Amino acid sequence: MKKIPFITREQAEEMAKTYPTPFYVYDEKGMRENAAAVKEAFAWNRGFREYFAVKANPNPYILKIMKDYDFGCDCSSYTELMLAKSCGFDGEHIMFSSNDTPAEEFAYAAELGTVINLDDFTHIDFLEKTIGYIPETISCRFNPGGIFEMSNGIMDNPGDAKYGMTKEQILEAFRVLKAKGAKEFGVHAFLASNTVTNEYYPKLARQLFELVAELQEKTGCHVAFVNLSGGVGIPYTPDQEPNDIRAIGEGVREAFEEILVPAGMGDVKIFAEMGRFMAGPYGGLVTKAIHEKHTYKEYIGVDACAANLMRPAIYGAYHHITVLGKEDMPCDHIYDVTGSLCENCDKFAVDRKLPEIAMGDYLFIHDAGAHGFSMGYNYNGKLRSAELLLQEDGSVKMIRRAERPEDYFATFDCFDDIKIER
Ligand SMILES: *Cc1c(COP(=O)(O)O)cnc(C)c1O
Repeated sequence: MKKIPFITREQAEEMAKTYPTPFYVYDEKGMRENAAAVKEAFAWNRGFREYFAVKANPNPYILKIMKDYDFGCDCSSYTELMLAKSCGFDGEHIMFSSNDTPAEEFAYAAELGTVINLDDFTHIDFLEKTIGYIPETISCRFNPGGIFEMSNGIMDNPGDAKYGMTKEQILEAFRVLKAKGAKEFGVHAFLASNTVTNEYYPKLARQLFELVAELQEKTGCHVAFVNLSGGVGIPYTPDQEPNDIRAIGEGVREAFEEILVPAGMGDVKIFAEMGRFMAGPYGGLVTKAIHEKHTYKEYIGVDACAANLMRPAIYGAYHHITVLGKEDMPCDHIYDVTGSLCENCDKFAVDRKLPEIAMGDYLFIHDAGAHGFSMGYNYNGKLRSAELLLQEDGSVKMIRRAERPEDYFATFDCFDDIKIER
């Protein structure tokens, strides 16, 4: 499917007058339509809730959009919990799905009354020692081991992943937690990442529904929810077919009717913790071509770098690029599109066919709305960019200012003998 940016060259130029490139821009309309479609696709399940994975895009304005659909937040750290609380999410709307969790984070999660999702059997004791009790509602993360395979060849490797408990451990965990006072139980699993197939959630659901039916039967624990977590992917490349959330919801419903309803468990709530699917396609990184270089290859140097968007550098991830205003020109040039870090992996694209790029052209890097800004870092003293929201009425609102040098040096502010000067 041809990838079309949600802004035009004129809009980018207009934004750049107030907010110098590079900047992130998010499409509120697209994000809202998708959120509504997710809600609709799972409306058959009375307790359904999406807990937006905060790490994908930890911006309060984005979280507030999610809140409008009665979605919650999936948090994994102290500051993500603070952010969720600050945006008005109550405990019931916060899922704390962390791993290798520090005691103070468990304590804060419990104080907020969040749903705590235990990554390991040993965390039962750790949690009890930390907060002095076991919450009435508790969740456990499952890892079946082995490999997770789908018919289109997509697979992932849970057996190699650090997350979750074995089946034997989760059975025992339920028994122990029940004895310690837990009353409502949940199971969570995240077995494959960025799946671009409607098959993933239904297949995962089937596996988890069978597991919880067995858990409830063997332990007598009341299973209140099954958390399908994240992993629903997006088409980063133009040749991929986007997931159809309606088909996904329907696939999960079929598994639910087949397995849980006959087991007398038709009251189980379905939870999700999608990040990428909720925000990925609705964000772009806009950057300007500032250098061209002709050596052994053709290079275009832009004013963003891997510190703004890390995925290409660390995963070799593909992000589609549109040269704004040149959407219909032939892609008859081959470029490496680079940032300015002193690292050769700092390339947004390698050997990419693009229209001829002129200095000053704006490049729109697609699908950067999730795990984009949030993975940013400060290597080479690079400063994080601003984030802009293209609102439904077409106006642009800055939702995070760009970092300034003072921000970079802020952690020296307690040292009397260090003064950073311009
Ligand atoms: C990262 C993560 C998610 C979100 O994953 P996406 O692929 O962005 O949907 C959800 N839950 C947990 C526990 C995660 O670590």
